[in-house]
Amino acid sequence: MQKFDNLIVGAGLAGVWMAFRFMQENKTFVLLDLKDENNSSRVAAGIYNPLLAKRQKVSYNAKNLYPNLYSSYHELEVLLHQKFCHRHQVAYIIENLRELNDWASLSEAEWFSDFVMVKNERIADQVISDFGYIDILDSGWVDIPLFLDSFIANIPSPNLFFNQMFDDNNLIVNNDNFQYNDFTFKNVVFCQGTGIDQNKFTSNIRLKPAKGEILTIESEEHISDMIPQNGVFLLPISNNKYRVGSNFTWNKLDNLPTEEAKLEIIQKLCKWYKAPFEVTNQVAGVRPSSLDRRPILGRLDCHPNAFILNGFGSKGVSHAPYYSKMLSRFIYDNGMIDEEVDVKRFI
Ligand SMILES: Cc1cc2nc3c(=O)[nH]c(=O)nc-3n(C[C@H](O)[C@H](O)[C@H](O)COP(=O)(O)OP(=O)(O)OC[C@H]3O[C@@H](n4cnc5c(N)ncnc54)[C@H](O)[C@@H]3O)c2cc1C
Repeated sequence: MQKFDNLIVGAGLAGVWMAFRFMQENKTFVLLDLKDENNSSRVAAGIYNPLLAKRQKVSYNAKNLYPNLYSSYHELEVLLHQKFCHRHQVAYIIENLRELNDWASLSEAEWFSDFVMVKNERIADQVISDFGYIDILDSGWVDIPLFLDSFIANIPSPNLFFNQMFDDNNLIVNNDNFQYNDFTFKNVVFCQGTGIDQNKFTSNIRLKPAKGEILTIESEEHISDMIPQNGVFLLPISNNKYRVGSNFTWNKLDNLPTEEAKLEIIQKLCKWYKAPFEVTNQVAGVRPSSLDRRPILGRLDCHPNAFILNGFGSKGVSHAPYYSKMLSRFIYDNGMIDEEVDVKRFI
């Protein structure tokens, strides 16, 4: 029976970052995932943005997550010889004079000044932005499917990837190891996103998943390399092609695109985007959001060597590098898990 240090279940952002962290610790792993184009990581726009501009707040733990985010992905770009992380600034469109005044003073405050620059100019002719916009620093986007596929295609031996379903009934739990098919493992890490409830080892942990949809549009106009955003974002992905989204719904949590979401997204876009466009594609997925909107990581109660990394909600790109590192340090280097994100709060 072949021995590995870790079994990782799920190869979305959480599982792949976990695998990379184990490589950095010189620990071996087997990564399991039944690839599905509608998984949250493969549907997501991949935008990272430290600001909740509408709510005039900095996002959770922004000071730790964002300043090194690009370099974390870039390290993997170099390793994999592939470009998937793009520094395109998110530009929040200021709606009115009151908001402009608010931002003029907020941008001076210590907790915003690292991330925000108020610009008194239009984004582009086709983007209604008469009150200017906020240039959000440390923002951009990751082509997540390209990142995941590049990583999986280049997993160095002796580590393994299997495109197959994990069946919790086949995991044999011993005192000091786990057995799955023909392998034994010291640890198991569950990174299953919304699949959490189909696994008896994690099904006692509740998520509050949120469905979201994204359109692809084509427009003759080239606006800019920024990502304008207000209500929805307009993400340039290639010549005249953009992704637009997203919305949030908490019922009917399936991966099927709906006409309601399409109309909602178009309506929000048309509030500030003036050029004609055509919708060429629509996708839907479900975000693995937690009840308190914080990530979920740490040791499970079923076994001292069983762990979880989940609960990334709508922030997988920015959460995965930081929290996978926190978990690998916890497993291997006596590191601590922050109380606010520790799975203990749910079990
Ligand atoms: C419409 C939409 C837009 C989004 N936009 C953004 C964005 O712009 N920026 C951002 O940061 N985040 C965004 N997100 C959120 C982001 O997608 C998630 O935070 C992130 O992808 C979660 O990653 P994960 O690895 O935890 O889960 P997932 O991506 O769901 O991965 C879990 C994996 O586990 C596998 N799995 C589960 N059960 C099993 C099993 N039994 N056997 C084998 N494999 C299994 C699944 O196949 C899946 O691949 C968006 C999400 C949606 C739906």
